[in-house]
Amino acid sequence: MGWQQKVLRVDLTAGTAKQEPLNMDWAAKYLGQRGLATRYLMEEMDPTADPLSPENKLIFASGPLTGTMSPTGGRWSVVTKGALTGAIACSNSGGHFGGEMKLAGWDMIIFEGRAKSPVYLLIQDDKTELFDARKFIWGKTVWETEDLVKSRHQDPLIRVASIGQAGENLVRFACVINDRDRAAGRSGVGAVMGSKQLKAVALRGTKGVQPDNPKAFIKAVVAAQRKVAIAANSERLSKTGTMAMMDVTNSYGSLPTHNSRDVQFRNGDKVNYRAMVTPRRSDGHANLVTNKACFACTIGCGRISRIDPQHFSIQGKEQYKSALGGLEYESGFALAPLVGVDDIEAATFANAVCNEYGMDPISFGGSLAAAMELFEEGAISEKDTGGLKLNFGSADALVEAVEITGTGMGFGREIGLGSRLLCEKYKHPEFSMSVKGQEFPGYDGRAMQGMGLAYATSNRGACHLRASPFTDDFTYVRTEGKAKIVKDSQDKNAAVDSTGICAFAHGALDLADFAKQIDAACQGEWTAERLVKTGERIWNLERQFNLAAGFTVADDTLPQRILKDAAKTGAGKGRVSELSVMLPEYYELRGWDKKGVPKEVTLKRLDLA
Ligand code: SF4
Repeated sequence: MGWQQKVLRVDLTAGTAKQEPLNMDWAAKYLGQRGLATRYLMEEMDPTADPLSPENKLIFASGPLTGTMSPTGGRWSVVTKGALTGAIACSNSGGHFGGEMKLAGWDMIIFEGRAKSPVYLLIQDDKTELFDARKFIWGKTVWETEDLVKSRHQDPLIRVASIGQAGENLVRFACVINDRDRAAGRSGVGAVMGSKQLKAVALRGTKGVQPDNPKAFIKAVVAAQRKVAIAANSERLSKTGTMAMMDVTNSYGSLPTHNSRDVQFRNGDKVNYRAMVTPRRSDGHANLVTNKACFACTIGCGRISRIDPQHFSIQGKEQYKSALGGLEYESGFALAPLVGVDDIEAATFANAVCNEYGMDPISFGGSLAAAMELFEEGAISEKDTGGLKLNFGSADALVEAVEITGTGMGFGREIGLGSRLLCEKYKHPEFSMSVKGQEFPGYDGRAMQGMGLAYATSNRGACHLRASPFTDDFTYVRTEGKAKIVKDSQDKNAAVDSTGICAFAHGALDLADFAKQIDAACQGEWTAERLVKTGERIWNLERQFNLAAGFTVADDTLPQRILKDAAKTGAGKGRVSELSVMLPEYYELRGWDKKGVPKEVTLKRLDLA
């Protein structure tokens, strides 16, 4: 069975952990990971609860294909009510932690309550134990935490997911990091973990995953592996990672630059893929060292970089002098064009600090960009920033800001509020480029009308992974057909996010390929059609959570800058987002009323009534 059929429930208030059976009726309807964990969350907590209170729950969830030989089958998710947004949060991570969780025999770990003092959880197959984290790893970085836990328990093969100081300090966009640089990055799931005084989860698993029909499973997996191996998308991701996107958005005019005041970055060629692979004058080496892969992945889109040893950012800082996690498109855009910085070494440093202290680089970059606009518009001064000159384009400001945000020092505490609270505090909410409080990823919704609609309707706040309107958006600046593309891809992506497979495999595999593997791994008749319906059910369930949490139609919107200020250049020159045209069509397609509430007939069709 793809599912291990076991949940570990950890009551942090009581300091206990107990095993319970997985709800198999829900597994049949919500699959795993994103869908299944959201079902549990919806059932077990009040959606109006403060995300940083003990009433919130934090769920680590795998999918039925996690931990198997299915290509890219190592994904896992953190599901909770987001600290950044107050909305449903599901952050998906790769690396090896998810596979290890499954091999230890667990589909899900549910954390509830709040520990009286900092703790960490160690799982060795069925053996589970909470340890005191005080005077051991509380106050340590993610990297120190991983090393210390492995050393203390004398097992270098232990996999660790932890928070850094950002999560401990409740930075609103703190994330959970595993395997040093793989992140459950968005929506502030690390702050929720910090609020529970849970520093880390360490895992070691020696069990296998037993598919329901091993012969059929191997056949389906081998067929999928072949498809992934020969797909052009896999080869491109392996070679360039996602950084090739920088030139695409920059030339098209959808690269958020200077806090989305611009859509193209004049110095983009200094921070693109070519800049990563060009040998430096200083030491003759390129920024990019090699690629790396997550559990069971044959693509290997991950980046390993080495910062220029002579760069000012790392002088006297030994931990950044060896190879470390490098820039991917989303971190690259947020730590360079968005803040106007054209120094790829400074951006790589800032990304490393985000991994080390446990912060989402997209939201950090978005919050810093908002602070820079506040500074340049005179809403804040050096008096507020402690002498920090927050000018667009300043690599010094980027380097200092990321360190003080990670450590919670000085003005870093303000940046750590996230752009929405920061801009509200200084009376310019219009400078926050966010939806439902979550900062924009690297696509502008004026040239890319579909992405604008995707941001506005995303259940977890602005997100580039919830829908996939890329092909049409990079071909046509129009509104026609976008609602259907966004709606259909949201449903498909919700299903994929619940399988245990990486979204990037979706470039090579269609839903029928996913279905064949799930059908062989799990009991039940799994087809592509059933997966689409499962995804639609998950999307509507997330919507129900948000409506119950107090979100309304008014939250399905974009910042005024995107709705009112026309793009100055690029394919979308002279255009604003025409969200008001697309949104009613989107609601209609979803079977929702004019207020964005699912109609009774829709809920009944999806077994959600
Ligand atoms: S494609 Fe990239 S993110 Fe996805 S599993 Fe492979 S290495 Fe990890």
